[in-house]
This record gives sequence, C-alpha cells and structure tokens, in this order.
Amino acid sequence: EALQFEQYMRDILEEIGLLKKEDQEIHYEHRGADTAVLDKHLLRNILNNLLSNAIKYSGEGARIEVRSEIGNQELSLSVKDQGIGIPQADQEHLMTRFFRATNVTNIQGTGLGLTIVRRYLDMMGGSIWFESKEGAGTTFFVKIPQE
Ligand code: ATP
Ligand code: MG
Repeated sequence: EALQFEQYMRDILEEIGLLKKEDQEIHYEHRGADTAVLDKHLLRNILNNLLSNAIKYSGEGARIEVRSEIGNQELSLSVKDQGIGIPQADQEHLMTRFFRATNVTNIQGTGLGLTIVRRYLDMMGGSIWFESKEGAGTTFFVKIPQE
C-alpha cells in the first residue's frame, strides 16, 4: 500500500509523542521522495518501539531526533536520543531476546521490543543497528528496501 509518508510519520509521532516526559522535545525531519510502499502497522510498531525506548531511556528536557529518507530503493529511519546510552560491554548482546543493559535496572522493561522489531525487519529484508555511548546517547538506524 502506498503511503503519503511524511504526513503519516507526523501523525504517528504526534500520537507516540504524547507519552514523552515533561520538556522532552521530539524533532522530525524527512528527506527525499514522499511515497513509500510498506505496511502501516509495521512502521507504527517499529517507531513505537524505538521512540518509546528513546523517551524511556532519556531524562526530562532531552531532545530526540527522528529522521527519515526515501531514495535509492530504500527507506531509512533513525531515532537519536541524548539519554543514558548503552555500556560498551552490553552492546553486542543488545538485540538478544530478554537482554537488558546493566544500566537500566531501575527502569521498567521486558527486553522484547527490539527483538520484535528485528524480526519484522528480517521478514522484510530490512536491517537495524545502533551507535551508542554510555552517558551520552544512542542512535538507532533502520533500513527497509523499497522496490
Ligand atoms: P520492552 O520490551 O518493554 O521494550 P526494553 O525497553 O527493556 O523492554 P528493548 O526495547 O528490547 O527492551 O531494549 C532492550 C535493551 O536495550 C533495553 O533494556 C536497554 O538496555 C537498551 N536500550 C534500548 N534502547 C535504548 C536507548 N534508546 N537508550 C539506552 N538503552 C537502550
Ligand atoms: Mg523497549
């Protein structure tokens, strides 16, 4: 199904953004083409997981940046936060089911969200990876092929 992508993203972000903490700011920027062919519910699920992590693992007043780009037969998304980050030693285990980093013991979670996102992306031939520094923040990147 073809989506008017940017507007659909804004609608999702507004909805998920209602869960943000006081003074957190969510910024969104889109580049490239404005139509994408993908399952709406899947896109919502991916954003919901990544953005709720960014919100949950960042403090009040933190800035969260969401970017999307469509071009070269792919859709790219990134969600960047200035939160607690992921300790270096935990990073290789992060996408494993039920794994939670050693610095999140006082924050609720089941350790399933990213596993689910990764499975969806696997099914679509997409990918997910991240860059993170403990105490500085994390950026998740997603790519989804477009025909
Ligand atoms: P839930 O199943 O409710 O989403 P969760 O957030 O713990 O629980 P995942 O979303 O799979 O599970 O994330 C796994 C772990 O990755 C988290 O417990 C946390 O340690 C780390 N993590 C994920 N996103 C971030 C982020 N934006 N900043 C810091 N750590 C993160
Ligand atoms: Mg989560």
